[in-house]
Amino acid sequence: MAGIKMATPAAKPEEYKNVFVFLETREDKLVRPALEMIGVGKRIADKVGEKLYCLLLGGNIKDEAKEAVSYGCDIVLGAESPDLSVYRTLPYSKIISDFVKEEKPNIFLIPATRNGRDLASRIAVSCEAGVTADCTELDIEQDTRILSANRPTYGESMLAEILCKKHRPQMATARAGIFPVPDRVKSPKGEIRINSVKVDKSLLKKEVLEFKKKNAVDLTAAKVVVSGGMGLGKADGFKLIEELASEIGGVVGSTRPAADMGWISRDHQVGQTGQTVRPRLYVAAGISGKIQHIMGMKNSETIIAINTDPNAEIIKYSDYVINADLYEAIPALVNSIREEKKKLAPAAGK
Ligand SMILES: Cc1cc2nc3c(=O)[nH]c(=O)nc-3n(C[C@H](O)[C@H](O)[C@H](O)COP(=O)(O)OP(=O)(O)OC[C@H]3O[C@@H](n4cnc5c(N)ncnc54)[C@H](O)[C@@H]3O)c2cc1C
Repeated sequence: MAGIKMATPAAKPEEYKNVFVFLETREDKLVRPALEMIGVGKRIADKVGEKLYCLLLGGNIKDEAKEAVSYGCDIVLGAESPDLSVYRTLPYSKIISDFVKEEKPNIFLIPATRNGRDLASRIAVSCEAGVTADCTELDIEQDTRILSANRPTYGESMLAEILCKKHRPQMATARAGIFPVPDRVKSPKGEIRINSVKVDKSLLKKEVLEFKKKNAVDLTAAKVVVSGGMGLGKADGFKLIEELASEIGGVVGSTRPAADMGWISRDHQVGQTGQTVRPRLYVAAGISGKIQHIMGMKNSETIIAINTDPNAEIIKYSDYVINADLYEAIPALVNSIREEKKKLAPAAGK
């Protein structure tokens, strides 16, 4: 990594080829950040005429391997075992490190999800590589095949470009929700290599007894997000946000201070330290528009701000502004949406 002297000798870059991405799954299904990794990995691999390898681990992964190929993966390297059906640090990092040591990829990308962050650091240590965390832009220099890994720094106010010139693989984690999901390819031609593996018992120190499903909100897939901030003034204010969200088929988001106050659970938080969203519509009610929040929602297709302050920063990023008290504006909006729906609904009894 730039500016850090590694203790280990540099790798011979010419011996390292192709792009690896880790495909994260939940209950043996690819999660959205996995598809995002295929998109960015394919773009980078194509630019230098190399292949995209997708690493897939799980209990039953054959269908998802086909799915990965349909999105443009050239080679799926899979390891299948009932012991891999749930993410566990030790077996996952061991198997993936072995793949990396054997195949010697030039680049290895992992989504910056909780599991991805855990995995990336372990693999980097095991393969004596560095890792640039939480990238929001990734590209490759065609001649040198050096990854340009860009990540926000100084409280998101600047973008740092990090180059790993000597060590291989060049590893990066990519912030979830930033990179688009690619289109499916017309005639997929990928190769699938899945091995049934026996996981070494010494790597299964933790036994998963039960999976308790938390009703975690997945804002990243939402088409409409209605977020509330400190302008709500109290926890009860989120009832109004929920009402508007449910009227327009959206999910509820929040700013960090609103979550810090305990007005809403942390999994609703949008922003640098929350989730990154790119819905078709984002409504920001009582939100000032500080950069840490903007980072998580600026790629929304249409942004509507509801704010009493005509100079609030959020306004610079908004397509429409309702310069009003949200306690007046939201009930008025909800009422007019209901009226419109009534008009559009076919008359009863006809
Ligand atoms: C390292 C770091 C990471 C961070 N990560 C995140 C993050 O992930 N997400 C995040 O959101 N923040 C994050 N923050 C915090 C961020 O800097 C801001 O403090 C936060 O986004 C502001 O939240 P807010 O807009 O709800 O509150 P405020 O900044 O207090 O804004 C409230 C807004 O409501 C308006 N308002 C007040 N009353 C009304 C009313 N009745 N009707 C309409 N409008 C009204 C005001 O005009 C104002 O614009 C982070 C900060 C740091 C340092």
